[in-house]
Amino acid sequence: MYIIILGAPGAGKGTQAENIARQMKLEHIASGDLFRQTVERGNELGGRLKECMKKGMLIPDEITIKMILKRLTFDNNNNGALLDGFPRNLKQAKALDKALKEKDKVIDKALFIRVSEEELTRRLISRRVCRQCQMPDQASTEIMGEQEKCKHCGGDLYRRADDNLKTIKQRLRVYFSETLPVIEYYKRQGKLVEVNGEGSIEIITTKILNSLQKREFVEK
Ligand code: ADP
Ligand code: ZN
Repeated sequence: MYIIILGAPGAGKGTQAENIARQMKLEHIASGDLFRQTVERGNELGGRLKECMKKGMLIPDEITIKMILKRLTFDNNNNGALLDGFPRNLKQAKALDKALKEKDKVIDKALFIRVSEEELTRRLISRRVCRQCQMPDQASTEIMGEQEKCKHCGGDLYRRADDNLKTIKQRLRVYFSETLPVIEYYKRQGKLVEVNGEGSIEIITTKILNSLQKREFVEK
């Protein structure tokens, strides 16, 4: 099974993808995490990626497509893969379809997590991410005298360089112009599963798991 998880920055893709992948035994492939790992390596490619991400721009398609497709191993130990953050534009979606077709596979479902723009900005501003396991968290206070720790693994939490108001606005602009057409693309193919992403993490995970089991599902 190959599932894509779609939604704006801050919609909760990473958190939900982690939960869903674990429960459905899918390999979780997160483009943003892959890119941040490359930045950490500090080589020339990492430097280029860092610049794009800092500005809230997409990484060039040639780089993105190559990196993600290389990561998609068709490993038989899993039931398939859950792609988080990719595809983010139509060119990437078509490249993915082509690569899957060569292996006689298709995207089964595209899960769209819907969250209002106001809520997205609020979440991104107070978001912290674990250095160790990459899981996102919400900062409980803006003044962090004491370093808060990850509730999953105890690792240090940090604020992503692109979680500032200016970059957030740019990322949302890119999302509306480049990624919304991807949502339409899967909708036309009858693969879109839409879930309201506002509410508790656990309830949303349950709603997603239930709706992925149905043939067609659009939450009202
Ligand atoms: P978010 O969804 O909160 O923006 P991600 O971690 O998924 O966070 O992505 C962070 C950044 O990584 C994006 O703003 C973009 O610069 C880059 N990126 C991630 N996925 C892609 C992609 N599929 N194509 C191009 N750039 C990407
Ligand atoms: Zn952690």
